[in-house]
Amino acid sequence: MRQKIVAGNWKMNNDKAETKALIKGIKKAIKKLSLKNTRVIISPSYVNLSAAIKKADNSKIEVAAQNMHQAKNGAYTGEISADMLKSINIETVIIGHSERREYFNETDAILAEKMDAVLSNGLEAIFCFGEKLEERKSENHFAVVESQLKNALFHLEAANFKNIVLAYEPVWAIGTGETASPEQAQEMHAFVRETISKKFGKEVADNVSILYGGSVKPANAEEIFSKPDVDGGLIGGASLKAEDFAAIIKAI
Ligand code: PEP
Repeated sequence: MRQKIVAGNWKMNNDKAETKALIKGIKKAIKKLSLKNTRVIISPSYVNLSAAIKKADNSKIEVAAQNMHQAKNGAYTGEISADMLKSINIETVIIGHSERREYFNETDAILAEKMDAVLSNGLEAIFCFGEKLEERKSENHFAVVESQLKNALFHLEAANFKNIVLAYEPVWAIGTGETASPEQAQEMHAFVRETISKKFGKEVADNVSILYGGSVKPANAEEIFSKPDVDGGLIGGASLKAEDFAAIIKAI
């Protein structure tokens, strides 16, 4: 059975005290939930990962990093390696978020290298992809998504997918308040599963969790999550408030 996942991407928000307070709030809000077959992940900033792990200890909350450099170590000022993440017990990393692609020039080729680094280090990747508004308007969204998947993932082995979560995030829906309709999300998720199935086989495709991301909030989460190929969400803005994040977790 595929895992359900609700992951919060905090981006460049929350200092140390705010990080701890938000985790405390989420813990309290989800304490009574059974969360069967459901993972809850939060992704604070690098500098607060250790504090977050400590605070989340003994709870249902996992802590992930928002990015990772592909090199083992070296002269890459400002960057963070897999070894560094592993040394503080981080097991999951978001790779290829559209903001990394757009503001930090992360190309498909770089993302392919990052995926290799994540997987060869025994870490798990939440791999993000999705089309821009003009690409959807020109009806190129399926081709764009297919090429993002091919370029960054198709050199991998089927076995790698045990450590990969996919996150479809149409760029036009991120932080804009505009959400893909549940039908649009389902249509793309089914396409992604089919694309993975053709390359890596049905078993891999059936078992990989595909999250939707893009202005998910308590009011729309349940409908989006009710779609058969939507296995959860990657949540930005609404993951910064404990009650909203908890309501989205409840919706799954
Ligand atoms: C995101 O950044 O991954 C995201 C989905 O953001 P938001 O929920 O704010 O649209």
